[in-house]
Amino acid sequence: MANVTVVGAQWGDEGKGKIVDWLSNRADVVVRFQGGHNAGHTLVVDGKVYKLALLPSGVVQGKTSVIGNGVVVDPWHLLTEIGKIADQGVNITPELLVLADNATLILPLHRDLDQAREAASSQKIGTTGRGIGPAYEDKVGRRAIRVADLADPEALKPKIERLLSHHGALRRGLGLPDADAGQLFDQLMEIAPKMLAYAQPAWRVLDQAKKAGRRILFEGAQGALLDVDHGTYPFVTSSNTVAGQAAAGSGMGPKGPGYVLGIVKAYTTRVGEGPFACELSDEVGTHLSTVGREVGVNTGRPRRCGWFDAVLVRQSVAINGIDGIALTKLDVLDGLETLKICVGYKIGDKVVDYLPAGMRDQAAAEPIYEEMEGWSESTAGARSFKDLNANAIKYVRRVEELIGAPVALLSTSPERDDTILMRDPFEG
Ligand code: IMP
Repeated sequence: MANVTVVGAQWGDEGKGKIVDWLSNRADVVVRFQGGHNAGHTLVVDGKVYKLALLPSGVVQGKTSVIGNGVVVDPWHLLTEIGKIADQGVNITPELLVLADNATLILPLHRDLDQAREAASSQKIGTTGRGIGPAYEDKVGRRAIRVADLADPEALKPKIERLLSHHGALRRGLGLPDADAGQLFDQLMEIAPKMLAYAQPAWRVLDQAKKAGRRILFEGAQGALLDVDHGTYPFVTSSNTVAGQAAAGSGMGPKGPGYVLGIVKAYTTRVGEGPFACELSDEVGTHLSTVGREVGVNTGRPRRCGWFDAVLVRQSVAINGIDGIALTKLDVLDGLETLKICVGYKIGDKVVDYLPAGMRDQAAAEPIYEEMEGWSESTAGARSFKDLNANAIKYVRRVEELIGAPVALLSTSPERDDTILMRDPFEG
């Protein structure tokens, strides 16, 4: 099996960036297929910290990096990110970065709308405020401005008019001033040459890579519980985050995604609003948050923390078709006397072994825990499975059993080399 797709199996922030960076060594091409700069990846390479939001993690390793059609792209953010990473010594050339010419653009009016809605709403989603949702709305509403439109100023003008007539009503309803068509056109024309330098039919680049037998790594953003269909709706992001989207969001067929590697944190976190049955507000929650340094890469928001929820991850294994998992941040559990794993929910007088779709059921779900003995030894920096103590091994084995997927990789620190390989995802 040549290709690997990496997806978050919880609510995002599972540590995908490090695993993708690690796997990039074995890949030729790295592809983003959904989301936008709402994602945040921290890569630590030789002690140097790189923070990426939109660029595929493969850029740091100099691998062909593709921003697929399923991504929503804020051109100003992209250019800033390219500039920042260049300052760290990574030069992003058009040979290195491919931007799908049919990807949707995030415009300033999308950010305005996202932020104004969040400010005005009595039921906040807790979005990143980057315009992600409104940009996807315009995409499915068939009025979006896409990368290729930047090459055709004459066609762009009426597209902008059409878009603004839709946004005018929304903006007025939220007390925002009308957007200026001429100004938006000028702003887009200013960045057009820089963006178009990277623009290509990405599906074709990938098709050629496939035919040349190159290994493709698909890099998911967010996590399965934030998927617009399968997540804790409406407290979700606006794209499909599951592995199946790797095919549609890049222009490869359904066999493109290959081996599906789910990234799973040894406990649970989420940012933003919405149900979270295993959330802890006690000293264990504080331990997970401080030892795990659980602060959003992008927005600096503290992440909510809780015990490992095997029910959610089992569901995630099914909806993503996960073949194996990378278990991250096991070392954060070091020193906890007793560990709990959620194995089911009590909802009213019912006991269920999955998360139901209804919003009220999700909010009412109370965790049913099983307990395990913790460990006092450090697992941080372990580079072999036999370096782990017996209780840590028991915990890992129990997680595998409950979720129905084997551990392929175990990450024991943010450093690239502190990774235990149990089976190589590229070998299937
Ligand atoms: P949006 O993607 O900005 O629309 O935000 C919708 C929800 O997804 C909010 O709860 C965000 O906190 C969450 N979210 C978006 N991107 C990420 C991510 O990369 N990690 C974790 N949560 C995210």
